[in-house]
Amino acid sequence: MAKEELECSFCGRKKAETSLLIAGLDAHICDRCIEQAHGIVLEESKQDSTEELTSELKLRKPKAIKDFLDQYVIGQDQTKKVMSVAVYNHYKRLLQPNSNDDIEIQKSNIIMAGQTGTGKTLVAKTIARMLNVPLAIVDATVLTEAGYVGEDVETILTKLLAAADYNVEKAEHGIVFIDEIDKIARKSDNPSITRDVSGEGVQQALLKLLEGTTVNVPPKGGRKHPDQKFIEVNTENILFIAGGAFDGIEKNISKRLNMQAVGYGASKLGESVDKENILQYIIPKDLKDYGLIPEIIGRLPVLTYMDPLDKDTLRLILTQPKNAIIKQYQKLFEMDNIDFQITDGALDFIVEKALEYKLGARGLRSLCEAILTDAMFDMPEGDETELKVTKTYAEKALERTSLRKLKAVS
Ligand code: ADP
Repeated sequence: MAKEELECSFCGRKKAETSLLIAGLDAHICDRCIEQAHGIVLEESKQDSTEELTSELKLRKPKAIKDFLDQYVIGQDQTKKVMSVAVYNHYKRLLQPNSNDDIEIQKSNIIMAGQTGTGKTLVAKTIARMLNVPLAIVDATVLTEAGYVGEDVETILTKLLAAADYNVEKAEHGIVFIDEIDKIARKSDNPSITRDVSGEGVQQALLKLLEGTTVNVPPKGGRKHPDQKFIEVNTENILFIAGGAFDGIEKNISKRLNMQAVGYGASKLGESVDKENILQYIIPKDLKDYGLIPEIIGRLPVLTYMDPLDKDTLRLILTQPKNAIIKQYQKLFEMDNIDFQITDGALDFIVEKALEYKLGARGLRSLCEAILTDAMFDMPEGDETELKVTKTYAEKALERTSLRKLKAVS
């Protein structure tokens, strides 16, 4: 065949009519046909991944979700149960066939109220791990209304995209954990008095993301890269989980409960209120009184709470979860061929100190770190093959660390 007669074997265009004609063994393909074929490949793989998602999710009923959570999160039974149902329903919603009965299942975004260090982030992380979906953890305090110093709410999706290795489809099925949602509560009762760019303004901006919309996301985030291309992300199937400590909200809840107790038909309520854990009585109205706008509360319809961590729970957290802190140290020492043992007395001591510091389970880690730093520094080069941490050892080690800290300050 003469050169000028070459043509695309798929569409028949002559070489001169194409920008590019690639030769195969016995055929040629033009740029347009390549593009079209590429589109078909993408479409096919999209279908495949939806099918994959379907088959994976079918395996996980609420009880199975909770069983998984139990391996990592100690206590918090109510939240684990509520979350299991919410997550199950969320993914059921994704899988709903296009029916024509007009019943559209709404999103089950979640809001968790609980003191710091009680496991809110851990629950979100564990669910993302179980579902094998990308997770972005964002701090609401850095968000501001667009146009102000701080981060626009779109950067939330930038983080999710990064967590999904820039696979848009994966990101669109991901989970976003918004921490410290309580810090964007409305600052004043009268919203018209001052501009509230980091409070109500952010809540308004968040609304759209929560309900589901298509957002142009700057892949690198922020306004610092003005010429970057935007990536379109649809938030309709993203599960949002918000968490916050809501410091002081207990007072409002108690007040409400008292009012109910004296009110009509609530005679026994006062007696049965568990004063140690007032947060368990939280209702959406309490969030509104705290300064969340009703629209936001409406878009986070699943409300749950975290129990404060008591002595027994903290003690279990040290040793029980699949990746418990003590198990982690055991592994670290094992890598230096050191047999690491810790007595019950030492564990109790760590728990007592953690309660004293009021840092929730977060205190456990820093205490262990303080107690074991010297050993972790000295032992890898020593001859000893055993470390037994007793209560006395822990007390002394902690004392040494605090002394060092005192010296550093003075
Ligand atoms: P929060 O988000 O509520 O402030 P995190 O989830 O970040 O708290 O928890 C802080 C640390 O304490 C994490 O290392 C976590 O593993 C541990 N932790 C907290 N609560 C629990 C729990 N209920 N079970 C197991 N570990 C916990």
